[in-house]
Amino acid sequence: MHVVVVGAGVIGVTTAYYLAGLGCKVTVIDRDNDVAGGASLANGAQLSYTFTDALARPDFIARIPALIAGCDAASRVRLHAALLPWGLRFLGECTARKAEANTLAVLKTALHSAELMDSLREAVPFDFAHRTVGKLVLLNSIDQLEAAKASVALKREHGADINIVSADEAIAIEPALLEFDESPVAAVYSRSDAVADSRLFTAGLRDWLQDRADVTFMLGQEVKRLRTSKRRFDVVETDDGDVPADAAVVCSGAWSGRLLQPLGINLHICPMRGYSVTLPAGAHALTVSATSLRHRIVFSRINDQVRIAGYADFRGFRTDADERRIRTLVDTARRLAPLAANYSAEHQEPWGGFRPMTPDGRAIVGKTGVEGLYVNTGHGMLGWTLACASGHDVAHCVAGKQNNSPTRTLDI
Ligand SMILES: Cc1cc2nc3c(=O)[nH]c(=O)nc-3n(C[C@H](O)[C@H](O)[C@H](O)COP(=O)(O)OP(=O)(O)OC[C@H]3O[C@@H](n4cnc5c(N)ncnc54)[C@H](O)[C@@H]3O)c2cc1C
Repeated sequence: MHVVVVGAGVIGVTTAYYLAGLGCKVTVIDRDNDVAGGASLANGAQLSYTFTDALARPDFIARIPALIAGCDAASRVRLHAALLPWGLRFLGECTARKAEANTLAVLKTALHSAELMDSLREAVPFDFAHRTVGKLVLLNSIDQLEAAKASVALKREHGADINIVSADEAIAIEPALLEFDESPVAAVYSRSDAVADSRLFTAGLRDWLQDRADVTFMLGQEVKRLRTSKRRFDVVETDDGDVPADAAVVCSGAWSGRLLQPLGINLHICPMRGYSVTLPAGAHALTVSATSLRHRIVFSRINDQVRIAGYADFRGFRTDADERRIRTLVDTARRLAPLAANYSAEHQEPWGGFRPMTPDGRAIVGKTGVEGLYVNTGHGMLGWTLACASGHDVAHCVAGKQNNSPTRTLDI
């Protein structure tokens, strides 16, 4: 069976890995000249297997006036026509019942992903700066602490290795927090969460697949159209010619809707821009990864560098605010953790990427209403974390193999 995978981000390349493992011949096509050119390039680097909380929650509604007024430093919104239908669906997910269901659904997939990542690392040994260092989420108020207690209890019931620690315990786990200009009341700690570089992973897996499996990469070629015949997938049209195949899997991140809309398939994916900067580690760089809920930024250690990432901007596919947003991110991180990174380093790697967000925060994985056409997309804030589970699941769906894992599959 010949399968075309559209998109060579972490999701597309991981999908190719599992398809090849099931005996498929795979062609991965991407318009960029290298793999991981989209959201997978310099994300927060966190394998957040236990921090799966939905963005759509009841307390989000209270943030909306500040968001629209431009007073929320972590989020910028530009009201535009495409945002409205997505926003209404998102608001529909902001009930306590739906938030809990969405959080648990993603948690199940994430825990499955953690197991698959362990197997993949054994089967395909290459270095992508993977470290199981644990993760601390700093809580700054009694309200945050109470909400965290409820969330932790629920996740523990469903198998998550997560607990609340006092401020002193958090400092014992990560002494570099002593140098933070923030005094948390407590923290949520997960010892099993990991940090790893998704670009190194995607590139290393590409190299391995090219050498060891029946996988071809067609880079620098844009997919223009997915052609069908009698409601069955037929051919992928690229700017360099046609690629016929038995099946296609759309893994094109925030851009997935563009290829599917002409076929009458609406995935309701909205681009949510976030930013990162990668700097040399400072004198008191953290080892454990840490999230500041107050500032909505994360710190991850990747070898001798520190990646600081965050923010959630809804401005369509615009990138004109990048420089300003990255400056705000760096200034905030410098005030919060002045010794965590070398903020004056000559070599800094600023970056912005579009997270492919669904209204409920759950990925869309499985077959569509067009025979032979599949999707694996919409992973939002957690695509790196969920890549193994959703790649595994969509591959089983394409190859018609039995699969009892918990990822949501949709008939679209
Ligand atoms: C600031 C930031 C921090 C993040 N931090 C984390 C984190 O710590 N942990 C985590 O789990 N996740 C994190 N994420 C989310 C994660 O990065 C994404 O969910 C994930 O990278 C999505 O992967 P993808 O392969 O679906 O999309 P992408 O990596 O965007 O790949 C899509 C690919 O499709 C290609 N493409 C699109 N259209 C076409 C076409 N027509 N023809 C050919 N090619 C096409 C693009 O060129 C691109 O290469 C973060 C994201 C951001 C922005």
